[in-house]
Amino acid sequence: MRPAASDSSAPTRRDLRARQQTAEAARRAERSRAERTRPARPGATRGTAVAARVPLTQRPRQRGGLGVVHRGLGRQVLSVAVLVAVFALVVSVSVPASVFGTPSANAATTGAPLVGSAADTQSFQVSAAAAADDTSRDAYGATSQAEFAAAAAAIQRAAAAKAAKATTAQYANTWNPGIGPVRWPYEVMPKLGPGFGAPATCSTCMSVHQGQDYLAHEGTPMYSIATGVVTKKQQDSYGWGNHLVITSTVNGQTVSFLYAHTQTGSIAVNVGDTVQVGQFIALTGSTGSVTAPHLHLELQLNGTKVNPHTWLQANVTG
Ligand SMILES: [Zn+2]
Repeated sequence: MRPAASDSSAPTRRDLRARQQTAEAARRAERSRAERTRPARPGATRGTAVAARVPLTQRPRQRGGLGVVHRGLGRQVLSVAVLVAVFALVVSVSVPASVFGTPSANAATTGAPLVGSAADTQSFQVSAAAAADDTSRDAYGATSQAEFAAAAAAIQRAAAAKAAKATTAQYANTWNPGIGPVRWPYEVMPKLGPGFGAPATCSTCMSVHQGQDYLAHEGTPMYSIATGVVTKKQQDSYGWGNHLVITSTVNGQTVSFLYAHTQTGSIAVNVGDTVQVGQFIALTGSTGSVTAPHLHLELQLNGTKVNPHTWLQANVTG
């Protein structure tokens, strides 16, 4: 049976309402008490309003006092400790260890000898020979600066020292192991320097580069590109330096090859000699107007200078 909810529930509803009102009043009183005892916070509207209403003498004790001071001090000590820890971490990963000790002290701990002082532990020196590898200028280098001239002289000295180790006799019977009638002048392709038609900058040389530079090391053996006859062999201290020309016939065309800047005394053939393709002819040098050892190769096709490198790319087989 469903209970009747009309007469029997009326007094109950009144009681409930009364109880609700009582509870609400209690809640209001409680809220009011809580507001009075809550510490005033700057910027908090309610707190400020309460603080304004309550007289100074009745305000609850706010921040301050010995306990609060101790808590603040503890927090500051903690902050400083964290800062010190972070600083130590940064220093340990960003500053080289050698800064904190003398070279001898470091050498003693690591067992590795240190070169130079602690001030230059992060620098290194490049030898003149290594520098020569990347120097590509020949007859049209910018030699006006004293510094550049000094550097070039150092490279020349290093090259001369290296040259003493390589001799023509050592390579006299060596061959470039290609298979075709036209081969590269080196067994291993060196780095390329300025190419055919590159702009020239010196006042005494040609307006543009007439050949291709191959940046081989001093003393690297050079081999005949094609079978032909030696038509020129000359020693000069300027321009092409020590150079030779071999004239060949390739695909019915007369082709002459000029090999320049060869090492003094290294040309292994004479004018009138027939030279076979791949035969050793001279050592790479730095004679004439150069700042670093290399082969300056020029090619004349039926009397006209052409790009020797592209011609080789088109004609070398195997
Ligand atoms: Zn050149």
